[in-house]
Amino acid sequence: MPLPSPFFVLGTGNRKKGLELAELLAPFGIAIRTLADFSQHAEIVEDGRTFAENAVKKATEQAKCLGHWMIAEDSGISVDALGGAPGIFSARFSGPEANDNSNNRFLLEKLGDLPLEKRTAHYTCHIAVADPSGNIRAETEACCKGRIRFEPVGSGGFGYDPLFEIVEYKKTFGEMSPAIKKYLSHRSRAMRELIPKLLALSEHLGDDG
Ligand code: IMP
Repeated sequence: MPLPSPFFVLGTGNRKKGLELAELLAPFGIAIRTLADFSQHAEIVEDGRTFAENAVKKATEQAKCLGHWMIAEDSGISVDALGGAPGIFSARFSGPEANDNSNNRFLLEKLGDLPLEKRTAHYTCHIAVADPSGNIRAETEACCKGRIRFEPVGSGGFGYDPLFEIVEYKKTFGEMSPAIKKYLSHRSRAMRELIPKLLALSEHLGDDG
């Protein structure tokens, strides 16, 4: 019998994403660990064709490796004028050595002087929950619509946030307080849908799946 695991492990190596997810879960008393709490974990190759495939793969493989319940997500930005790119390739859009700044510069180059009304985009977040045997026990997906500014504004959030404007607010996620991003974002929408399922699953924590 595996040891009881009365917590979920957040399967992301992205610190800011992990913080956002942990903050979203905090009010519900759902116990969380992160990959940093484990001396060894799997390095997952994200070779799925969709956000869903990648999230499911991360949850399943990491759960089997650690023997714990996992919450894994895959997310990214899709720009309409680029046929939905970068999508699942958001993290490495500008190349293998990409970082947030180089990705943002690359996106601005690609869009050139395309007018604002044609710079529509959306973030997507898919979350998958796996039990310690790697069976998927819950999934949610949500989007957040916006458009790409001509230059970065604000230092909040991460990734494409300084370029991503929520049209109704006339502000980028980079300019908004974390509390507002927490309310509006793709990640928070997907997590809000997931919370009732997580609370129901919490009753099974400690089962070996
Ligand atoms: P993943 O770790 O493969 O899921 O990569 C997700 C990538 O999508 C990140 O590295 C960012 O470039 C982008 N992304 C996802 N969510 C957000 C967000 O909330 N704000 C800004 N960029 C995001």
